[in-house]
Amino acid sequence: MIRLHLGSLIVVVMLLGVSLVVTLWTWTLWRERRREIRRRRIAIQCRICNCNYQPATASPTSQCPACGSRNQRGALNPI
Ligand SMILES: [Zn+2]
Repeated sequence: MIRLHLGSLIVVVMLLGVSLVVTLWTWTLWRERRREIRRRRIAIQCRICNCNYQPATASPTSQCPACGSRNQRGALNPI
């Protein structure tokens, strides 16, 4: 049996908790970043009204549903 002092046990439990929180935080940031990259890959941002939308067809140009202007497919500017 492993003998630990109460102080050591508290430190071990705290380190495990901090490791769990850091791991979950990192995983959440990674997942959100992947979602944002995917969303920016399929979305078009209107150059007139700044509306984001997903075009119905795969044509290089599409019409904005908000203002009706024609937009060309391209990557959105990264934040
Ligand atoms: Zn528009």
